[in-house]
Amino acid sequence: MAFDIIIRGGTIVDGAGMPGYQADVGIRDGIIAEIGDLSGQAADEIIDAEGHVVAPGFIDGHTHTDAQVFWDDIGSNSCWQGVTSVVMGNCGFSMGPCAEKDKDLALHNFERAEDIPREAMIAGIPWSWETYPEYLDVLDTLPKGLNYAGFVGHSALRTHAMGERAMEEEATEDDLEKMKVQLVDSLRAGALGFSTSRTFSHRTPTGKPVASRLASWDEVLELAKTMKSMGNGIFQIARENVITDPEERDKEHEQMKHLAVDVGVPCTFGGTWYKRPNPEAWRTQFRMVDEAVAAGGKMMIQATSAWNGSLRSFETATPYDFIPVWKEFRQLPLAEQEKGLRDPEMRAKLVEAVKNHVHKPDPALPNLYQRPVDWDWVFPYDRTLPPYPSVADAAKQRGCEPIDAFIDLALEHNLKLFFIQPSFNEDQDYVLAHIRHPNSVVTFSDAGAHVATTCSPLIAHLLGHWVRNEGAIPLETAIRKITLDIANFWGLKGRGWLHEGWHADVCIFDPETIAPGPATLHHDLPAGCPRIKQKTDGIKATIVNGEVFMRDNEHTGALAGRVLRGPMAHN
Ligand SMILES: [Zn+2]
Repeated sequence: MAFDIIIRGGTIVDGAGMPGYQADVGIRDGIIAEIGDLSGQAADEIIDAEGHVVAPGFIDGHTHTDAQVFWDDIGSNSCWQGVTSVVMGNCGFSMGPCAEKDKDLALHNFERAEDIPREAMIAGIPWSWETYPEYLDVLDTLPKGLNYAGFVGHSALRTHAMGERAMEEEATEDDLEKMKVQLVDSLRAGALGFSTSRTFSHRTPTGKPVASRLASWDEVLELAKTMKSMGNGIFQIARENVITDPEERDKEHEQMKHLAVDVGVPCTFGGTWYKRPNPEAWRTQFRMVDEAVAAGGKMMIQATSAWNGSLRSFETATPYDFIPVWKEFRQLPLAEQEKGLRDPEMRAKLVEAVKNHVHKPDPALPNLYQRPVDWDWVFPYDRTLPPYPSVADAAKQRGCEPIDAFIDLALEHNLKLFFIQPSFNEDQDYVLAHIRHPNSVVTFSDAGAHVATTCSPLIAHLLGHWVRNEGAIPLETAIRKITLDIANFWGLKGRGWLHEGWHADVCIFDPETIAPGPATLHHDLPAGCPRIKQKTDGIKATIVNGEVFMRDNEHTGALAGRVLRGPMAHN
């Protein structure tokens, strides 16, 4: 019987970690029908994959595409990264349960913590649901190129049960009961689990904590137990990034272990990252995970493959947007700013203001202004894979001050150059330790969030930098950590493995050239809001549910993505 697609002559890297081997892949009716020698067999389409790797479509376990799924049917930037399935509803933020009349409260949770512009959400989301099951049903009807799975968010549950009080106080017995009812309904409808946040950086636009941060640990525990009583749901948490007080830290680690081992809920989180002010803190995080796993608990670290932080430019934000002189100057149209920076008198004023500036963190300002600028750790993003020389390096080379190097570099690119400003994972040795940990997957692009301030091409970075350029990780291991390991832990059935009978989500890429493409700014969100676009070099095609979705970074028109409902949906 003929196939819909035959992928011919590629190297199969199956996602389960098996050594790569040469074979053809035959796809029929959305399913991988046959893997082997298919020469002489017919198909509607033959894809020549010689010299390419044929892998399962990549899975991103940590995104915030909850809002963008309504206005971006191809699911950028994930669609250009070989990703075929994304998980949303992370960190306690989901669009359901929430009635339209209360959507302001839900959007509050998203707006500041995830930097998704409010105007875009108002203009771009036609709200027509209240409960999480209703929300999933709406998702079903949306045209979409990717597969979407989701958590129900604790902040959403809380806000639905408590209204404005969710942002101010602990829950009563009554509130908790209401949350449990919605949680159970959400899991039955197909939520993969529930998510929460206790991290300081998750604030509302007024600088207050998001709803889940007002919850006692007992409240979290009660909800986790409710989920456990239903079966297999997983728990995702944005934990405190680094707790420096050893007593507090140990207490938090005991809570996490209790949840994973005694309650028996699989736990996953990022944020175990390296941070310069606390260079050893990550080791205690690893120890906690190792202890929990040794005791029979399930824990999965969400590693990234690179720095984690912001991309900044004169088109979006510079580190000095709120200091005197800059504040007014930055209001000018970009062309005027360029003129000003080329005018010696204006430039001298701006440089002087930077020299006189003393940094003070201000929780009312967005996350990216919370830390002082260290030019040794700011990198022009004119190349997309390491090594990245810093602005301080450039200043030395040019024989000028870093602020002048920063301005000159920006001017050389007509103010369109981005600069990397990492907040975590500056040390690449640690990033590697992270990727190599037996209980880690590589995920956490945060796609859909922070759309104008960051971009996280972590898959191309993993495959281009760590696998090819550094030879630090076998290709098969890297692929496993972005496919089957995630599918297994998250409960995505039939995905993440290139295997006969499994769903035909496939990525075909050139291992010799895969790398992140250039990052550019576009004002094409609803209401004209800005976002950074970034494609990937070296990906020949991605296939979603048996249809070619992207070819050489171009959308084919196929929108075969589905809502992936979790294992409890069928109980
Ligand atoms: Zn998140």
